[in-house]
Amino acid sequence: MELRKDPITRSWVITGDDVPEPAPRSETACRFCADSTAVPQLVSTMPGVDGGSWSARAVVHPSPVYRIEGEPSRRGDGIYDRMRSVGAHEVLIENPRHDRHLWNASDAEIEQFLLLVAHRIQDLKRDGRFKYVSIFKNHGTSAGQEFEHPTAQLTATTFVPRRVLYELRAGRDYFKQKERCVFCDIISQELQQDQRVLEVRGDFIALCPYAPRVPYETWIMPRSHDAAFERFGLARAGSMRDLGVLLRRTLQRIRTIAEEFHLVLHTSPNTLHPSESLGYWKTIDEDYHWHIEILPIISAKAKSYTFKEVYYSPVASETAVVRLREAKIEP
Ligand SMILES: [Zn+2]
Ligand SMILES: [Zn+2]
Ligand SMILES: [Zn+2]
Repeated sequence: MELRKDPITRSWVITGDDVPEPAPRSETACRFCADSTAVPQLVSTMPGVDGGSWSARAVVHPSPVYRIEGEPSRRGDGIYDRMRSVGAHEVLIENPRHDRHLWNASDAEIEQFLLLVAHRIQDLKRDGRFKYVSIFKNHGTSAGQEFEHPTAQLTATTFVPRRVLYELRAGRDYFKQKERCVFCDIISQELQQDQRVLEVRGDFIALCPYAPRVPYETWIMPRSHDAAFERFGLARAGSMRDLGVLLRRTLQRIRTIAEEFHLVLHTSPNTLHPSESLGYWKTIDEDYHWHIEILPIISAKAKSYTFKEVYYSPVASETAVVRLREAKIEP
């Protein structure tokens, strides 16, 4: 497999004929459970809560899309660009228990998982080859869930993924005009209008975005400005507890409407090793603002109306937020 760049959209794609071999599946037991006999390639582990030996841990993905060894060897091919699929691909085990998800685990367990995420991003950003660290969770068959056990995944890549690149460019353009962060401006308008705010908890806000890509799309953001999730999470004691509670409550609300969802964390790119040619690195700390996006998967019918180029979302955010606010959830 290799990475190729589309010269028109400037997006990198991973392509090639050698399909990655499927993860070796153990039929009898889950490889990620605390009592599993499988020996994972452990990367990092968080201390246990309530007497367990660990609470969350990162392991190398059993069939990684990106490989950690070597240099990306970026090179031209006529007008095109290509490079080797160098990177990191890890499974982030959210909990030692098979039935404890981000919506029903204890607040202390979710906090440890979020701290693990922050530590992994910070650690991988020390590697100058990596421009971006992505964190995502696919829950449900239609979402492309890979493992039964509650897990998220991490990839560290030698390029910035397309959606983040769009956000970085838009953030920079808005900042150039107004000298303000567009995300901060969104938060203050949403709080003032109070039509799409789902919940405010500590320093965090959950809201349904003005122009959703799918029904019940929800974002969680810090109310105070910071471009980097890992810096925010590791510097502010207790902040990850509040975020964990808000995440748990938000997922509980969403799950009253849709069981399956995608979740993605957007943080700043690796500014320790900025790109020379791309201008957006200079103001990133001022014009980018980390956030979590949750995209519920509603139904096959809604999906069939979704065009690839223009998102079609048949529930307005103002309606979605009312249904989500009224959902019966645990405290
Ligand atoms: Zn398990
Ligand atoms: Zn901001
Ligand atoms: Zn985003």
